[in-house]
Amino acid sequence: MKTIGLIGGMSWESSIEYYRIINETTKAKLGGLHSAKSVMFSVDFAEVEALQHQSRWQEAATLMIEAAKSLERSGANFVILCTNTMHKLAEEIQASIQIPFLHIADATAQRVQANGMRRVGLLGTRFTMEEDFYRGRLIHKHGLDVIVPNDDERAIVHRVIYEELCLGIVNSKSREQYVDVMTRLVQAGAEGIILGCTEIELLVEDEDVAVPLFPTTRIHAEAAVEFAIATNQSQHP
Ligand code: GLU
Repeated sequence: MKTIGLIGGMSWESSIEYYRIINETTKAKLGGLHSAKSVMFSVDFAEVEALQHQSRWQEAATLMIEAAKSLERSGANFVILCTNTMHKLAEEIQASIQIPFLHIADATAQRVQANGMRRVGLLGTRFTMEEDFYRGRLIHKHGLDVIVPNDDERAIVHRVIYEELCLGIVNSKSREQYVDVMTRLVQAGAEGIILGCTEIELLVEDEDVAVPLFPTTRIHAEAAVEFAIATNQSQHP
């Protein structure tokens, strides 16, 4: 089994879910007392959030690179970044280390395609919903058709992430707003909805909408376990 390196803390509310899902999945696959080998570098999200909203991405990249290198030095065999938004810096992070980097959008797109879908709705931070690093990757690398909420809806989705979910606040009124947004995406033709922010699955669940949800924390965590185990099997048959 390979050691999983996690860049976490963005926010820790979702990093704790990564840790739980990774270990539950490892136990389900390997049985008995098995648990995942992992190392986490958890950042101070207040620092990261300030850099994001002031567009100081170079400084944010320095923080992420420092975390990735530290994981590599600590024995991680590959790295996962436990936030969709910070994948804006995925290329810089991958370039700074020798070990593989498992991209959250790739794992998610593969799951969408495995479900036979092409047209999906995307919820996430403004960065994720509006910029090319994530939406563009789904479209151009994976051939998906991606629908995002309108301006007002994106503002709601973004606000709830930073002012509630990343602070551990799960609010029923916000859930209703998210359900309304997802329902409109389905009316616009979405066959499934990508929960493209690692905290959204703390707020909504499958029963909230008529189409399948693609929760990126769960999908990414499960993909990490698959990779950890598969790599092991291929090296130690
Ligand atoms: N965890 C969130 C995401 O998946 C938002 C926090 C962040 O800005 O990193 O995008």
